[in-house]
Amino acid sequence: MRFWLAILILTGSLISVGFSAIPQEAIVFNDPIVKIEFGEQINFEIRLESFEQAAEVFLSVQPQGESARVKPATITEDGKVIAQYNTRSDPFHPFAQIEYWYSVIAHDGQKFDSPHFYFEYTDNRFVWKSLENTQFEIHWYAGDLTFGQAALNTAEAGLRSAQTYLDASPPMPVRIFIYASPIDLQSGLQIPVQSWVTGHASTGTHIILISIAPGAEQQLEFERQIPHEIMHLLQFEFLGEDYRRIPVWLAEGSASLAELYPNPDYQWALERSAREQTLLPFHSLCTSFPREASGAFLSYAQSASFVRFLHQKFGRSGIQTLMRVYGDGIGCEEGTIAAFGISLGQIENNWQQEVLGMRPGLLAFRNLSPYLSLSALLMLIPLIIGLLALRK
Ligand SMILES: [Zn+2]
Repeated sequence: MRFWLAILILTGSLISVGFSAIPQEAIVFNDPIVKIEFGEQINFEIRLESFEQAAEVFLSVQPQGESARVKPATITEDGKVIAQYNTRSDPFHPFAQIEYWYSVIAHDGQKFDSPHFYFEYTDNRFVWKSLENTQFEIHWYAGDLTFGQAALNTAEAGLRSAQTYLDASPPMPVRIFIYASPIDLQSGLQIPVQSWVTGHASTGTHIILISIAPGAEQQLEFERQIPHEIMHLLQFEFLGEDYRRIPVWLAEGSASLAELYPNPDYQWALERSAREQTLLPFHSLCTSFPREASGAFLSYAQSASFVRFLHQKFGRSGIQTLMRVYGDGIGCEEGTIAAFGISLGQIENNWQQEVLGMRPGLLAFRNLSPYLSLSALLMLIPLIIGLLALRK
């Protein structure tokens, strides 16, 4: 009797389990596909098992170091989920690692997330060749293996050069992509940049993009562009997100300083501007450089020369102190006082005298010129009165 009762209770409980809350069959996600039409859109596709439960599907896309973006997806009659991501309106950094996943909302409101998948937003307009060691990955599409090897060797030398000014190391390997022209690079970046931009460092992803064509000038261009962009990565390693507070003249000046082959036209531009008194005051180069090419060129030339001067006077520790002070949030003109006890304007005067050979009298005149006309006039008044009195 007890035995039968026990069986009944057991069957009863089994039956009750069978009829109450049927657990939803978990949705299974199969065969994820990503097709990149670089610079246009990315097409996503995945197959759902037991898709009849699905009411809505969303695609979440998260580029490395950025927040996630959610896009609606559609379910086809045969259980495929398709979604499009427009990279024209919402671009990714070229070669960034992208994480993505799907979320299905079932008819009863339950939410199912797919596993997370990854892909690289490769600029597949070109067929890339590559070469790597423990420190660097070099990718290029124009030029042969000697071109890639020369870039790799220059990257190693460039890192050593940059580290003489800043004691920091980027996470390895640094990935360097060499476009054959600035136009290819600028169209790949998908963000508005000036036509003179030839290189770009993405600090979040440790990716460097440069533009160098194979040819007679290639080595000089490697020596100029690669160390420059490596220095921008070091600045980020040194200060983290605070590196955005470094004045542009210091960020670009120190990057130019790391170049193994400094631009020979910088000196010429500096001398001419000193002669014609058209140098740009450094307090005007704190947040941005002029957008037009000649003003931008002079800004780079001045910044490189000025930061070299600071390095001569205060050494690597001085440059690092200055960067930390700015990273801390101290203002552009106050930073040099906090770091060296001397105003930005005074260091600028010293630089003009010692490096450009400008005369202190001339500088004083130039600095005072807004007040000079008034004070000269005031000084002349007694003289004029005196002369008038004499004539009487
Ligand atoms: Zn730069």
